[in-house]
Amino acid sequence: MAAKTQVYRWDFNVFDFAQSVKGKPLYNVTMALLQDQGLLDGWLLDRPVVEAYLTRVESMYKPNPYHNNTHAADVTQTAGVIMCALDARLRYGSSDGSASSSSSCCSSCCNVGGGTVGSKLANALACCTLPHAKAAATAAVAAAQAPPSAAAGNPAQPPQPLAASGGSPGGGLAKLERFAIILASAVHDLGHPGVNNAFLVRSRDKHALTYNDRSVNENMHASLAFTLAAEEPGLNLFARFSPAEYEQVRKLVLDMVLSTDMDVHFKLLKAFEDELASAPDVATWASLEQRSLLFQMLVHLADLANPSRPWHLALTWAEWVVTEFLQQVRRPGRGGHGMRGVRGQGRREASCGLAVSDMCNEAKVCMPAAQLFFIERFMLPTLEAFRPAAPAFYRLALPWLGDTRAKWEAFKAGGVKLPRTGYPALPPGGEAQLCAVLEGSSGCTCSASHAQGQVQEQQQQVLARIGQQQ
Ligand SMILES: [Zn+2]
Repeated sequence: MAAKTQVYRWDFNVFDFAQSVKGKPLYNVTMALLQDQGLLDGWLLDRPVVEAYLTRVESMYKPNPYHNNTHAADVTQTAGVIMCALDARLRYGSSDGSASSSSSCCSSCCNVGGGTVGSKLANALACCTLPHAKAAATAAVAAAQAPPSAAAGNPAQPPQPLAASGGSPGGGLAKLERFAIILASAVHDLGHPGVNNAFLVRSRDKHALTYNDRSVNENMHASLAFTLAAEEPGLNLFARFSPAEYEQVRKLVLDMVLSTDMDVHFKLLKAFEDELASAPDVATWASLEQRSLLFQMLVHLADLANPSRPWHLALTWAEWVVTEFLQQVRRPGRGGHGMRGVRGQGRREASCGLAVSDMCNEAKVCMPAAQLFFIERFMLPTLEAFRPAAPAFYRLALPWLGDTRAKWEAFKAGGVKLPRTGYPALPPGGEAQLCAVLEGSSGCTCSASHAQGQVQEQQQQVLARIGQQQ
């Protein structure tokens, strides 16, 4: 289980952690949060049932390049951090509560030394094999030597430790609410097939038929989570809940998981902003619908938060998501209909190999632009919108988001198509999948001789798809 001093840190390295817990990061992160929030003992949950449930949940995450159990652990840990900030806001009003001495939160949470980022970045990019990438990396390393400044804004204060865990009646978040947030985060991509809703609909996937083309993945994730508890022996998390408690948790969790569908992103932000306009102080939001809206935004923000992590983490996540996307683009549709330019699995495997690795890496032309698009279109607006509800998290995340943004801008300006982390490696099979996909593509987007118009056209397609996928 993650130590309490780790589970609220913003530089929490979920990749290292996954290795240290032998590939079970979701189980361990979730148990640590439940434990720290006082939900495992002396409350409604039965610890052995929770352990069995989370073990089963973790096993049902597929080894996708991005939507895997490490991503679920990352989102759950992120939600835990944001939850601290929201709780502080609810308890202490417009102050972020960071000065509270009664906090039971770890004193070291969320402190990230800006001076260490440069060396980590240098290590991360040392493996880059492309000359132009090295030049841009040098510039990025230089930029990282200074503490992150807010390119996306200008917070006056450095990141502060976040506020208390725990909870008190009439004060911050109720235990039932904390549990709902943690559970929703843990299951929010349960059973994710590694392709997005649009693909499932176009390929007439069985889940698209089941859920009538609407939030297909998200409906499936939520349904799986509750079906496990209801039908599998020994996994009923809710056995001790009253009907009313179960009803409330179920509503909140369903709302939160369904809100992670990017198709409802703008609708969710508008609903949140409209509610804020009529009731500016979120501490007064007492109805179930208002609380649900708060938590939907929280989990949605946690799901988008990769670019606001320290650079070495943000870069790794970017690499993983692009890999999954490219894998999807070339995945054959069911029955062979509807997918232009697809390649069969055998064709992709046959074309795979390290010999094409460099070419394939260059071909990943869209990465900086795609990330900038994602930050500007989705992540930053969500962070800004949620600021009144979690000002401490805003101040924590914004400098790192600005830092990430500046680096992607530098890479883009430097003509770097494919920054490489080199750390940690892609998930098992990820590198092979990426190379095979790119080798098999009809037009390599990275070629220096490639017509600029074609590059831009392909890049725009990728940008749109990347935006849909996360
Ligand atoms: Zn997710």
